[in-house]
Amino acid sequence: MVRQQTNSASTGKYDRLLSPLRVGAFELRNRVIMGSMHTRLESEDDPITKQTAFYVERARGEVALAITGGFSPNADGVMDSEGPRMDDAEEALKLTPICDAVHAEGSLICAQILHAGRYAKIEGCVAPSPIRAPINRFVPREMTGADILRTIEDFASASANAQAAGFDGVEIMGSEGYLLNEFTVPHTNKRTDEWGGSVENRHRFPIEVVKAVRQRCGPDFMIIYRISAADLIENGAPTEEIIALAQKIEAAGADMLNTGIGWHEARVPTIAYPVPRGAWRGAPSNIKQAVSIPVVASNRINTPDLAEDILVSGDADLISMARPMLADPHFVRKTREGRADEINTCIACNQACLDYIFSEKVAGCLVNPRAGHETEFRNTPVDVPKSIAVVGGGAAGMATAAEASWLGHGVTLFEGSDKLGGQLNLASAAPGKDEFDETLRFFKNNMRKNGVTFKLNTRPSVDDLKEFDHVVIATGVTPRIPKIPGVDHPKVATYAQILSGEITAGKRVAVIGAGGIGFDVAEYLVTLPAQPDAEFYSTWGVDEKFTTPGALNGDPLGAVSSARQVTVLQRKSDKPGKTLGVSTGWILRNALRKHGVEMRAGVSYEGIDDAGLHITLDGKPEVIAADTIVLCSGQESERSLLDALEQKGIGATVIGGAKEASELDALRAINEGVRLAQSF
Ligand code: NAP
Ligand code: SF4
Repeated sequence: MVRQQTNSASTGKYDRLLSPLRVGAFELRNRVIMGSMHTRLESEDDPITKQTAFYVERARGEVALAITGGFSPNADGVMDSEGPRMDDAEEALKLTPICDAVHAEGSLICAQILHAGRYAKIEGCVAPSPIRAPINRFVPREMTGADILRTIEDFASASANAQAAGFDGVEIMGSEGYLLNEFTVPHTNKRTDEWGGSVENRHRFPIEVVKAVRQRCGPDFMIIYRISAADLIENGAPTEEIIALAQKIEAAGADMLNTGIGWHEARVPTIAYPVPRGAWRGAPSNIKQAVSIPVVASNRINTPDLAEDILVSGDADLISMARPMLADPHFVRKTREGRADEINTCIACNQACLDYIFSEKVAGCLVNPRAGHETEFRNTPVDVPKSIAVVGGGAAGMATAAEASWLGHGVTLFEGSDKLGGQLNLASAAPGKDEFDETLRFFKNNMRKNGVTFKLNTRPSVDDLKEFDHVVIATGVTPRIPKIPGVDHPKVATYAQILSGEITAGKRVAVIGAGGIGFDVAEYLVTLPAQPDAEFYSTWGVDEKFTTPGALNGDPLGAVSSARQVTVLQRKSDKPGKTLGVSTGWILRNALRKHGVEMRAGVSYEGIDDAGLHITLDGKPEVIAADTIVLCSGQESERSLLDALEQKGIGATVIGGAKEASELDALRAINEGVRLAQSF
């Protein structure tokens, strides 16, 4: 039986991406899969309604197939004590409404079955050998032969439960360093029985799992195996072993191979913004040459152009996008309708998706506040359109204007400078953060399409604003100038002057402030000019042909050359960079260490003169010899207009940095802007 979806009409430019593909007993309507993501929606009130809304929105956006977050096949494979499981047939049936609703929108849905192995944050976690993972405090117990046979059975039962619930198939998680992946490499598998030692023995467990699932669920059930296409750990699998495993998984009955890149403990960034787009496309390409079932490329693929290029060049048969489906659930639909320039692009910041999951919050999205909160937003035009003045064209102002105009309000956006973007223009200068340009493009195109009136180079007077139904003050922030003697010395620059290119820093630089902007500025300063994307591989010790064991050919933490000698300072005695995001902070800290950046915490600033920056550290005076001193010491709100409006009795709502400068970032600015527009 072939379960057929309605095919998308194609626009020409993205023919391959939008073309259907047979996968096992199914025909996918296009080549885009929503990759598995843990959302934590299952732990919310009314979890089925919220999960249904989440997946349905992506199905309406025409993704061919959605893969859920991981469900453990048993009690010892959970990610943590609250982690979702698929081992109870009755509980699994509660998921049926999600499957039905996704099918009603013409998409397919598969459940991911994930045994966390030694990454399970529980007492009594299990692994091939009792070796603790560097990212988990729990030491795993070595699985017995009986444990392994029981777990194979558990994978089959969990898959049967998913099938009974209405899922079209399962994705068996065999990458990212989880249990099945742990069996495949000697790094974590030191066994001497039939489940360890030779390549055949190390591959036996995943192969037996696939066979058992196929036998239990029959031919009309989709089996996707997520294979580790590059482990990115020392003594990881070489290409020939990955290819051998792929071929055996195909023979065992899998319909499709999805690819995972890098174990969670790898010291190489794999998905965050420092990774160039498409950096991993060579890894699935190696596998695709050796199997006849479809192969999926994943990680840092966030535009239809790149996706099309990967497919046309033959690197993969399908594209998996996870975070891009948070950023814009209608990615495929917009591509098909010739509206690719209206796609809200995932900027790989991880701030509201992974970082939220790590802090036990529901996954969201910095550029799309609706993600994970679908039931909280209105998606239809308002009955009574109003006139809205938005003052300030940074992230908060643009988000308000774009959302309000989309809902049907008449919006005028005032911006004092000659261009939109505000702090986003500065953020995008940091290495890898040029993805913010996509956010600007998204807002601009959507505002234009929805008829926003732009008034650039305009600081409105109180009179200009008095006729509007609502006035929004989104005037942002200005860099804080700390009270340090000599702060007006010519060698002092603000982060805005450095990142905008107004001032070029000298060879020796002191950065005052070790927050997110201090780190970004330090990275900007040490990065050699026009560093090509190809240098990503040499910087992090990655074999760009993906043939060496673990796809590494150097030390991910090894030193690299630096454009400048930089010292970053802060007054607090905390570890510098403590406030950075969980999933990106380690990358920035390691990148700066590799470039030889010095960190000084617990300093007092005594003064600035021709010799440099005078500090006291542990009671001892010291001079940081610097040609340039960059102020990254936070921001102050810019809200002078509000005071003038209040004096005239004109009400206004203040959002973003103008409301609260501390802890401001694009995440809060966009969220506040969109939610305010929803309230008009
Ligand atoms: P921030 O994170 O608040 O850091 C400001 C830094 O300036 C701190 O290191 C602070 O350390 C120092 N400072 C504050 N007042 C000072 C004073 N009067 N004199 C000298 N030093 C002073 O602010 P930010 O770096 O400007 O970042 C703004 C926002 O953007 C933050 O919310 C941040 O999270 C976000 N952001 C995040 C990232 C990222 O995660 N990658 C990147 C960019 C921006 P001491 O007080 O200890 O000296
Ligand atoms: Fe992408 Fe950032 Fe949104 Fe996560 S929060 S989906 S990384 S844009």
